[in-house]
Amino acid sequence: MLNKLPVAKAGMSAEELIAIARELGEMRFAPRSAEYDREAKFPTENYEDLRRAGFLALTIPAEYGGIGADFETYCRVSAELGRWCGATALTFNMHAQTTFWTGAMFDSLPIDDDVRATQNARRAKLYDCVVNGEGIFAQPFSEPNSAAAAGKAPFGTTARKVDGGWIVNGVKHFASLAGAASHYSMACTIETDEGDQRTKNAVYLCVPADADGFEIIGSWDPLGMRATVSMGLKMEEVFVPDDLELLPPGAYYRMALKWPHMFFTLSPSYMGLQQGAFDFTVKYLRGEVEGVTHKSRSIPAKQHAVSRMRLMLEQSRALFEMTISEAAYAPSKEARMRAYAAQHTIMEHAQEICALALRTCGGRTLLKSFPLERMYRESRCGSLMLPWTAEITEHRLGDESLYEPGEKRD
Ligand SMILES: Cc1cc2nc3c(=O)[nH]c(=O)nc-3n(C[C@H](O)[C@H](O)[C@H](O)COP(=O)(O)OP(=O)(O)OC[C@H]3O[C@@H](n4cnc5c(N)ncnc54)[C@H](O)[C@@H]3O)c2cc1C
Repeated sequence: MLNKLPVAKAGMSAEELIAIARELGEMRFAPRSAEYDREAKFPTENYEDLRRAGFLALTIPAEYGGIGADFETYCRVSAELGRWCGATALTFNMHAQTTFWTGAMFDSLPIDDDVRATQNARRAKLYDCVVNGEGIFAQPFSEPNSAAAAGKAPFGTTARKVDGGWIVNGVKHFASLAGAASHYSMACTIETDEGDQRTKNAVYLCVPADADGFEIIGSWDPLGMRATVSMGLKMEEVFVPDDLELLPPGAYYRMALKWPHMFFTLSPSYMGLQQGAFDFTVKYLRGEVEGVTHKSRSIPAKQHAVSRMRLMLEQSRALFEMTISEAAYAPSKEARMRAYAAQHTIMEHAQEICALALRTCGGRTLLKSFPLERMYRESRCGSLMLPWTAEITEHRLGDESLYEPGEKRD
């Protein structure tokens, strides 16, 4: 028998919101996760619960009817969701970041009053479709030419300005929530009369799922994070009205430069995932998992493994907490470097902890009747997610430790 669903409200503390996330995750998402994973099916029922609990409006500012969670609160809530269902947390991130970027993050930018007024009017309509409607946002940035999502090249998807809107053409891949989202929030390169393409000439647009010329392409049968349903998208002469311009032209590029923590928000899902694997291991070794009641906690080798898992978990958690407390417009170089280190540590530890959890609990936990083998597969995905993959964060940590901003490379 499920408890009555708790509902989030503006003004609630982070702890109250996390408690709701825990109830949703433990009582509803965790029991459904095996089936979604097996079928590689989007967790629609989880999203119905998230909507009823008010969580789809978590990062919508309170003056627009949302919960108004700040960056730190959002990351904590997301980590709690990831503890119970990695794929739900990861897809929820794509949705919640569209409303965070256009909301609190935009508000922190120094911007002219008239541009701000236009943005306020546009986002009011956008948020209304979540607060009072069925709106769910996907956030497809990645493209087959990955340099764009890594910030090294202009997006291949283009937007041409026409009367009353934009015409979008291009292809995205790995679009989580494909087929489930009502809107697809994507960065496009603005086509200029001169035909030159520049990284900074980007506009962040919202393509409605029912737009003419919009198509979901390819298939989806991956190793892990299967319930994210991250398929390809094709846009052929898709008209996007001005009202669905999520940010004014150029604002996305400024944010990417000045708000680096915007790219940290994949980490909370994997912070939660490693906590979930640790929790399961402790329960299993204590003989508290249904169906396996023998205790093996007194074996020194198991204790040693749990100690190693805990060391990694505490290191991840410490960096996570520090990093989310430092997120802001124009953070210090130290804070930015710490965010790279945190992302790298959390993504790598997620897979190391999950691998050790399987080895320590043993062969039975390879069975799909337990959540550990799913967590193990899901944990593999984190460090290869752009733009802050393991390689890219390692490169930046080395390069930017040795060079100050603006210094010429030798
Ligand atoms: C489950 C899942 C869900 C996803 N959901 C979304 C989503 O909703 N939206 C979205 O935009 N994307 C999403 N992605 C895509 C993801 O962020 C990456 O874009 C995708 O995994 C890239 O795969 P690729 O094979 O094209 O990698 P490539 O781009 O070919 O890169 C391969 C590896 O090369 C390394 N590399 C690439 N460029 C550099 C560089 N300049 N310097 C050093 N090393 C480099 C990277 O470490 C990378 O792991 C998702 C991915 C997964 C796995």
